[in-house]
Amino acid sequence: MASRRSIRDETTELRVRLGELEARVSWLARRLAKAEKALKVPAAPPLKVKPKRRCPGCFFEVPRGSRARRCAYCGFDFKAVKPFLG
Ligand SMILES: [Zn+2]
Repeated sequence: MASRRSIRDETTELRVRLGELEARVSWLARRLAKAEKALKVPAAPPLKVKPKRRCPGCFFEVPRGSRARRCAYCGFDFKAVKPFLG
């Protein structure tokens, strides 16, 4: 005769195993949350770029304080179109 475990024993064993699995899942969830928190990189602060005066002809930056009538790089005449902020 094959020995049979009683239904009560099997139920008790399954409850124990279920409890262990729940504890393991809970532990893994906590560990995952911790890892995700550690991986989060703070967002980079927005770039603060000051618009600079640029030549309409070549888009190079016009040197600060320059009162030249022409672009030093391409010779664009600023009388035609003034340098723009960009
Ligand atoms: Zn230019």
